[in-house]
Amino acid sequence: MSRPVVLIVIDGLTPAMLEATDLPALRYLLDNGTYRRAVSTFPSLTPVCLASIATGAGPDEHHIPHLVWWNRAEQRLVEYGSSFGAVRAAGLAQGIRDTMVNLNEVHLSSDVDTIYETLEDTGLTAAAINITTYRGRTQHRAVIPGLPVISGPKRLFFFSVYESDRTGAPILIPNRNQGSVDAYAASVGKWLVTRDGFDFLVYYLPDYDFASHAKGPGVAHEALGRSDAAVQALMDAAGGPDAFLDRYAVLLCSDHGQTSVTTPAKIEIPGALVTASNRAGMVYGDDPRALACALDGEPSVEAVMFLENSEVVARRNGDEDIAILDEYPDGRDRARRALLNPNAGEVIFTAADGYEFVDLGGGHHAGGGSHGSLAASDSDVPMLTVGLGEPPASILGIKETIVRHFAAGASK
Ligand SMILES: [Zn+2]
Repeated sequence: MSRPVVLIVIDGLTPAMLEATDLPALRYLLDNGTYRRAVSTFPSLTPVCLASIATGAGPDEHHIPHLVWWNRAEQRLVEYGSSFGAVRAAGLAQGIRDTMVNLNEVHLSSDVDTIYETLEDTGLTAAAINITTYRGRTQHRAVIPGLPVISGPKRLFFFSVYESDRTGAPILIPNRNQGSVDAYAASVGKWLVTRDGFDFLVYYLPDYDFASHAKGPGVAHEALGRSDAAVQALMDAAGGPDAFLDRYAVLLCSDHGQTSVTTPAKIEIPGALVTASNRAGMVYGDDPRALACALDGEPSVEAVMFLENSEVVARRNGDEDIAILDEYPDGRDRARRALLNPNAGEVIFTAADGYEFVDLGGGHHAGGGSHGSLAASDSDVPMLTVGLGEPPASILGIKETIVRHFAAGASK
C-alpha cells in the first residue's frame, strides 16, 4: 500500500517567499523534499486554479473561467467572491449559492473527474478542508439551514458550512484578518491526522493570499507564519516532523503568485459586456476582432487574445503577433486553454505591470497585491514534493502525480 498523501495549498504563496523562508515546518519540508518552480493556469485566479489542481485539467476542460463571468445559458453574471461588494452587486444570495454550491454542482464540467472521485473510485478515502473545488461521490447536508445537499469526498469540511464529521473545531467566524480560516483548517486537520482518517487530504490555507492582497507580495510574513503553524499542527498531531513524513507523502504548492499593484482601472467597451477582476478580464460580444481592437492603447491592458478560425490571435498595443505570448510562462498553451473554455468571453485580456481591474463592486487592491494575469509574477508557483517523485511543472500535473503514487502502491 502507498503512504497516504497530504496536499497542502497555500493560496497566493510566491516561489520567492517559500524559498527564503526560515519558518520551521515549511523549512523542514523544503529540506526533505524535491522543489521546483511550476506554472499556474490563466487566468491565474483561485477558482480557476483550484479547479485545475482538483481535476488535473485546464479551464478548457473543467469550464471554470474566472472569478466573474457571464453565464450564457442562464443569461446572468456569476461572481465567486472577488470582494464582498462584488458579490453584493451580482446578488448576495445568488453569489453565495454560486460559490458554495453551483461551482461544483453545475459549473464544473461533468466530463472531468476530480481527484476525490478518481481516488475514491479505487476504494480510497479522500478528505478536503476548505478547498472550493470539492465535488465527490458522497452526499453532505449543510450545517446551516437553507443550503442544499452537495456531493464531496467522504470527509468534507467547508468553512463550517458543510462538515462530514464532528471534530470539535470552533465554528468559523468569517474574520480573515485574525487568521481564523487557517486555524479552523488546523483544528480539523489535527483531528483527521490523529484518527488516521484519510488516504488523501487536501489542506487548503487561504489566509496568506488575503494578507498578501492587503499588504503586497513578499511582505506578509505574519500570515505565512500562520500557514506554517497550520502545517506544524499536522506534524504535531502525527508525533513530530519525522513521524509526519514517515506516515505521509506530501505535495506543497500554491495556486498562483501575486504582483504589486498601484493603479486601478475600469474597462468598458460600448455594446459589449466586460467581466474583469484582479488582473484578468474577459469581453463577451459578437465581433472578437473589433472588441480586441477596442482595447488597443488602453494602458492597463498588456495583451489581448481571441480566437479567429480556431487559431489564437494575440495583440499588444495594436501589434498582432502570436509570439507576444512567448514572453509569458507557457503563454500560448495557457491562452489557448482560457479561450477554449465555453464559459469564457470571446476576448480575454491580461493586465499590464502595476495595474489591476476593478471588480463589479468597484473593489481593488491598489497599494497591495493582486494576480490573474499571464505574467510570470502572477503565474509562477512553488511546487514541492516529499515521497512523490519529481514535482510537476504545472499545477495541471498535481492530480496525475498523486494518482500515480497510489497506482504504484496498489500494483506492488
Ligand atoms: Zn487572491
